[in-house]
Amino acid sequence: MATNTNTPLSALKFDNRFVRELPADPDSDNIRRQVLSSCYSFVDSTQVSSPQLVAYSRDVAELLEISEDDCQAELFKHVFAGNELLDGMKSYAQCYGGHQFGNWAGQLGDGRAINLGEVVNQQGQHHTLQLKGSGPTPYSRSGDGFAVLRSSLREFLCSEAMFHLGVPTTRALSLITTGEQITRDMFYDGRPQKEPGAVVCRVAPSFLRFGSYEIFASRGDLDTLKQLVDYTIRTDFPHLGEPSVDVYIQWFAEIAERTMDMVVHWMRVGFVHGVLNTDNMSILGLTIDYGPYGWIDNYDPNWTPNTTDAEGRRYRFGTQPQIAQWNILQLGNALYPLIEQAEPLQKIIKDFASDYTGKWQQMRAEKLGLKQFIADTDEELNTELHEVLQLVETDMTIFYRKLADLDVHDQTFTDDELLSPLMSAYYAPDAMSKDDKTQICSWLRQYQQRARQDDLSNEIRRKNMNAINPKYVLRNYLAQLAIDDAEQGDFALVNELLELLRHPYDEQADKENFALKRPDWARQRAGCSMLSCSS
Ligand code: AMP
Ligand code: MG
Repeated sequence: MATNTNTPLSALKFDNRFVRELPADPDSDNIRRQVLSSCYSFVDSTQVSSPQLVAYSRDVAELLEISEDDCQAELFKHVFAGNELLDGMKSYAQCYGGHQFGNWAGQLGDGRAINLGEVVNQQGQHHTLQLKGSGPTPYSRSGDGFAVLRSSLREFLCSEAMFHLGVPTTRALSLITTGEQITRDMFYDGRPQKEPGAVVCRVAPSFLRFGSYEIFASRGDLDTLKQLVDYTIRTDFPHLGEPSVDVYIQWFAEIAERTMDMVVHWMRVGFVHGVLNTDNMSILGLTIDYGPYGWIDNYDPNWTPNTTDAEGRRYRFGTQPQIAQWNILQLGNALYPLIEQAEPLQKIIKDFASDYTGKWQQMRAEKLGLKQFIADTDEELNTELHEVLQLVETDMTIFYRKLADLDVHDQTFTDDELLSPLMSAYYAPDAMSKDDKTQICSWLRQYQQRARQDDLSNEIRRKNMNAINPKYVLRNYLAQLAIDDAEQGDFALVNELLELLRHPYDEQADKENFALKRPDWARQRAGCSMLSCSS
């Protein structure tokens, strides 16, 4: 654990391997264009008029060895709003491409993200700092390069919440409003409005994406592709050894595995990314690019928070594993020219589905407090649970927490007694028909019986379940309440949620109000159940 030293902010150490070792765009004009044979372009962020600190993550500050005093200082907000560079910082935007909604979209790149370089802490760990929303770059295409407070607050809070949930993710150091007004047409319906601008400082060992490799493959630029692949293996996957064709294959297998682990966690906690384009897939298997993401309130595998995807629902909750596999296939295609052996790549892609299923079965068993998945009994138990959760609107998060409280050893319960601890998970208990009730109770009895096989006390089973089924998640409406306040200049709720979500598995007695199911008013409200890509 890093100790919080009093190294002044201005003395942070940087070791900018990415820009040192990879080819730079020779053109330094900040003009939108195609950038060839280069992994990034040097670019300055845009100066902003009056940066104001909304929140910072003390955990990330500690990781970077920035003291709390420094986080509150003038210099901090100027640096992390993009007004000033510290000694050793280099600002640049990365070039990448991507498949968007199933189609190759060509060059995308950091259109509004500006990297500041790699901090090295006392353990020698490298963390890239990246400002999101700090002005146009050569990759901005038709965008303005900025970001608004609502989407920045959502990214800031959610990435920290995900980390504390144990989900692989990029982190966020700070959320700063810029003092600028940004125009956005939130629902693309011809009603643009001015909104407060903001910058998030994101932090990750690397911000490389599947699309970072696809762009060079698509252009037939195998030299740059190979340089980038070798660089990635040497810096972020050193345990694989010196790059070679065999190592490329192992690397690809590891990326596939990390990606499936990440998705298993999303399904565990009820997270829907919303825009699983290949430019939003981290090469490290981290959740990246928090846009119109959402949290499952009532369990519905078909739900997508993203209104831009409402028709096709390509990125709905239940299909995230298949989409991840499709994205892995695209990465495999991009790497093929360096490997020139279809078979091992195809095997990794094909095995993705069964490997994922194995991991997910085990995770589902653990969510139910079972030691391990036993196909004979648990296949059916899972299938029926999937149905039972959809009979009547059932809050997924509350359901699993309450299930942990069920006494599985008592076989004398009436239906009402069996159901009573779970009632707070139902959105419309009155809509539960007699048949629904019978089916739910029959599942609960089946579950009791299966849990008894494991020979665990209720106490231990509850403890195990509560360690992986969170009590507190960043429900969409909670983020929206924090946005409503922040847009009025009141940052108390963002900070309260940030603190709450540092301990998502703990009972927090005075915070029960944040563990309740989504209120009715939030069902159809923009930002709570519907989000667009506008950010
Ligand atoms: P996203 O859908 O947020 O992952 O973004 C897809 C691409 O659009 C990335 O290359 C982004 O950098 C770019 N982009 C998104 N919003 C903006 C913006 N306001 N200005 C410039 N580029 C943007
Ligand atoms: Mg993106």
